[in-house]
Amino acid sequence: MQLEAPPDYALAVLERLESAGHEAYFVGGCVRDRVLGRAVGDWDVTTRAHPEEVVALFPRVVPTGLKHGTVTVLSEGEPVEVTTYRVELGYTDGRRPDEVAFSPHLALDLERRDFTMNAMAWNPIRDTFVDLHEGLYDLARRRVRAVGRAETRFNEDGLRALRAVRFAAVLGLEIDPETTAAISPTRPVFRRVSAERVQVEVFKLILGPEAGRGLRVLHDTGLLEDILGPESPPDVEATCAAVDRAPFELEVRLAILLRELTSQHAASALERLKPGNGLRARVSSILEAFRGVDPGPESSEAEVRSRVAALGRETFRAYLAAANALGESDRIAFGERAVRLRALDGPLSVKELALDGREIQRVLDVPPSRRIGVLLERLLVHVHAHPESNTPDALRNVVVRLAREEAEASLESAQ
Ligand code: ATP
Ligand code: MG
Repeated sequence: MQLEAPPDYALAVLERLESAGHEAYFVGGCVRDRVLGRAVGDWDVTTRAHPEEVVALFPRVVPTGLKHGTVTVLSEGEPVEVTTYRVELGYTDGRRPDEVAFSPHLALDLERRDFTMNAMAWNPIRDTFVDLHEGLYDLARRRVRAVGRAETRFNEDGLRALRAVRFAAVLGLEIDPETTAAISPTRPVFRRVSAERVQVEVFKLILGPEAGRGLRVLHDTGLLEDILGPESPPDVEATCAAVDRAPFELEVRLAILLRELTSQHAASALERLKPGNGLRARVSSILEAFRGVDPGPESSEAEVRSRVAALGRETFRAYLAAANALGESDRIAFGERAVRLRALDGPLSVKELALDGREIQRVLDVPPSRRIGVLLERLLVHVHAHPESNTPDALRNVVVRLAREEAEASLESAQ
């Protein structure tokens, strides 16, 4: 098999290990992705050398997971994970092995790996390709298949069921029938997996080119319920199709997934994914936008501009992307009208007005007070109705007029 050579920094690690007499191979995702002709993320190495031997061979190492036999070698400044051949002994919690032991045999190391396509080892220096579980064959027929008996493997580590679906979504593969059949029965084990590990896989899945395919499997097997909580999107098919039409942006795709849930369920489903504060805020504001009503075709231009201002540029953009993917024609029509009106050119907030609070104080000859903030808000409303008036001169006149109206109104109410 003719595979494109790995980069020099990665080859250098293999060379050093082998020239010191330690058998070593590239393994896992990098081999799989090279076979598929995809960009390789990390060049992971598996070796017979024990961690302390690896440490001794390289000038720059980080003992990332010494206990588990993993050392990160910095080669020409690039990190390469080097892991000693190992076997995993006993899984009682469905999350991690009770114990790992080093082994002199590559075959045992490959046997512990999750899927056949991830259990291939390659040494381009010796031109050796080790594929004991028919990973190449499965890749050729585009199948995700567990190494060994799928149900046993998913009972050992509940995350593997979700990983199968993630690989299907990212690589556009089918999941082998026996492997698919093992997903539902092992759900109790999946439910014990930490939210952090689940999050990593779900985010990769939903950003996959075939995310919809993955979400359908999650739904059909019940995993979606375990991930998001008891309420699923009512029309899963439509939701999956919309996710596939959406841009590859996490917040947009998550919002589409949660769009049809009640706001309470959507919020708790999002929380289960342990989003960071930024992501939580972005998804929530898109969902909030969907709960609002856009100005219809009869509404004024000022109303369109005000709604865009209330959403803010970033939410407006993401909301529109989601609405487009969902095919929600009224929302799309609003978005198109807003773009036609150049509503995004602003101002969308008082900060973008051509006049600031200090200038208002100067014009009216008044000290700072809350009244200034109120006047700024009123100026923004004015500018949304008269976008051409966002100049210092025009706004000075407007603010004088608004102040006069205020004074007259308070005089009237005093009488
Ligand atoms: P990606 O391209 O997303 O990084 P990957 O296959 O490299 O995919 P990793 O999570 O980086 O996935 O894991 C590296 C390798 O370790 C896998 O290819 C697989 O051989 C093995 N592996 C990872 N997680 C598990 C697991 N839960 N059970 C068994 N083997 C696993
Ligand atoms: Mg990887």
